[in-house]
Amino acid sequence: MVKNICIVGGGTAGLITALILKTRYYDISIKIVKSDKIGTIGVGEGSTEHWQEFIDFVGLDLKELVRETKATFKFGIMFEGWTKNPYFHNVESHFNDAKYGQYQAGYGYAIKHKIQAQEYTDQWCWKNKVGQDQNHLPRQYHFNTFLLNDYLLKKCRYLGIEIINDEIIEATIQNNKILEIKDLIKGATSPDARLQVVKDLKSFYGNSMPYINKQIYKQIGPDVSLAISVNDPELQSLSILGELNDEQKKFVRSKVNDTNLEESLLKTINSNLSSLADVVANQPEGYATYSEFIQTTASSLKNAAMNGILEDKYKSADAAANDLSERFLADYNFTNETFYIPFDVNGKIVNQDVIEAKARVWENKLYWNDIDLENFNVDLIGSGGKLFTKEETIDFFKKNGEWYMDGNTGIKFGVKEPFGGFTPMTIDNKNIKINFLDYDGEFSSMKDINGNSYVMDMKDIYKFLDAEYMGVQTP
Ligand SMILES: Cc1cc2nc3c(=O)[nH]c(=O)nc-3n(C[C@H](O)[C@H](O)[C@H](O)COP(=O)(O)OP(=O)(O)OC[C@H]3O[C@@H](n4cnc5c(N)ncnc54)[C@H](O)[C@@H]3O)c2cc1C
Repeated sequence: MVKNICIVGGGTAGLITALILKTRYYDISIKIVKSDKIGTIGVGEGSTEHWQEFIDFVGLDLKELVRETKATFKFGIMFEGWTKNPYFHNVESHFNDAKYGQYQAGYGYAIKHKIQAQEYTDQWCWKNKVGQDQNHLPRQYHFNTFLLNDYLLKKCRYLGIEIINDEIIEATIQNNKILEIKDLIKGATSPDARLQVVKDLKSFYGNSMPYINKQIYKQIGPDVSLAISVNDPELQSLSILGELNDEQKKFVRSKVNDTNLEESLLKTINSNLSSLADVVANQPEGYATYSEFIQTTASSLKNAAMNGILEDKYKSADAAANDLSERFLADYNFTNETFYIPFDVNGKIVNQDVIEAKARVWENKLYWNDIDLENFNVDLIGSGGKLFTKEETIDFFKKNGEWYMDGNTGIKFGVKEPFGGFTPMTIDNKNIKINFLDYDGEFSSMKDINGNSYVMDMKDIYKFLDAEYMGVQTP
């Protein structure tokens, strides 16, 4: 699905296009590139009959529009000197009236019967005034183009459309983007230049980068793909170098005096990556391919490690394997105040919005709405050698409890202790937990003393997300 649109040109055409698209597809990110240096044609602007539909669709206030653009009402266009008698093309809707019937047919009738324009147009038109009759108020306008552009620009900004004031110098269009990227990477003369290509790609493709990277993985190779998918600059620059040739491999093996160097590297890396298996298994679409992912990642990390040893960055296989695994895994230990959630390929946090919304909605339900914790077999906790009562346990979690990403498979409710400890709240020995892919809103581990389980409709979560998104106060 299209997620980003860039409109080139911020004159009347570009601004109107942006407003229509943003109104229709609110979630799409829209940017306009315009150049104040080049400016606009700016010779004048008169609307056509579609203008009213446009302002209705986008929800512009007509009075405000007329006031801010110093608009005048448009009755039609007078063609003087084109025919024997001046011809007035009327743009009011009189021909749709019962008197004349359909617009085209009405016009034909007027021409055939030589009916004068004054007879079928609003009389105010000939007085250069606008009458009070709302039914015959002209629905078209002439604007001051500059003011109209200022007004539309203001509306674009209000809707969150990004305006970039810059000049486009050149545009290259090629059918096969991946081949173009391949050429770019191949053509880059140094590792730094290659990395610059990677950086440019990421900023150019934004959220679509994971999809592009899938193609890059297939058509260019896993090493370049790894360089794109990670955030650590050192790891990026070593993996972009790719696999060493046989001669270089031999040299590197002798450098660390290990004839089985590649196997040693893979062994350490694989063992380091084992903590990732759960995370990858829980990524959307990740389950089926996670073993392949771990395998190819380990192999690319091994190639990066070989490059690191070649460049004298590491003195031993273990140092290289451990350092690069750590750099790679750093992307999977993200924490905001509440969660530890892995990044996806583009450095974006996986499903954070949904997970966070779900946690918040459950929190609200848990405390204030539907769920009374008294009805649950809450496992007691203790402090200072003394066991809390049920009430004290519930009170403790109510006061201090938060959702945490724990164990990489889901988020758990509990209290984070100083120095990294974590006390989960458990009911019947089961964690209160939301799994990564637990999209259905089910809270299966929670059953109250009557055996009722608690299922939350995904609608509530979307409602919550919408409310957050619109900046509305949430429950
Ligand atoms: C002589 C003349 C008379 C006209 N009379 C009327 C009239 O009476 N009534 C009427 O309705 N219409 C009239 N028009 C048409 C009307 O003015 C234009 O159709 C309308 O303003 C065009 O809007 P636009 O958005 O296409 O172009 P513009 O308003 O010119 O916008 C072009 C945009 O592209 C940007 N841009 C251009 N090059 C680059 C670049 N390299 N990099 C980045 N940005 C760039 C500019 O900065 C600008 O933002 C007339 C046109 C002409 C030429």
